[in-house]
Amino acid sequence: MANNRKIGCDCGGYMESKTVRFDSIKTEAMVCPGCNFITLTKEQAQNYVKLKQLHQIIDAERKIIKIGNSMGLTLPDQLQEFGVKVGKKIKTEALTQNSFKVELE
Ligand SMILES: [Zn+2]
Repeated sequence: MANNRKIGCDCGGYMESKTVRFDSIKTEAMVCPGCNFITLTKEQAQNYVKLKQLHQIIDAERKIIKIGNSMGLTLPDQLQEFGVKVGKKIKTEALTQNSFKVELE
């Protein structure tokens, strides 16, 4: 965040920006180190809503299909709201032995 304005907590502490988990979604939030009170700035709330939408669209079991001599997987059409289009460049990278990520460029 560009501005470092401090947000005070009722307990007298100051909120710190931290990564937290809401419904298995990791997101940035303001957390009070004193009493663990959590709140979201407007920007963090907007990011959380977007991230939640993306989870709803992409989190699913899919099947690998055959495309010519290659393997492929289909992506839901709603991903276009997130700038995913046919022809768009993506970057793939291995994470663990059985997972990899797909990153939009
Ligand atoms: Zn507090």
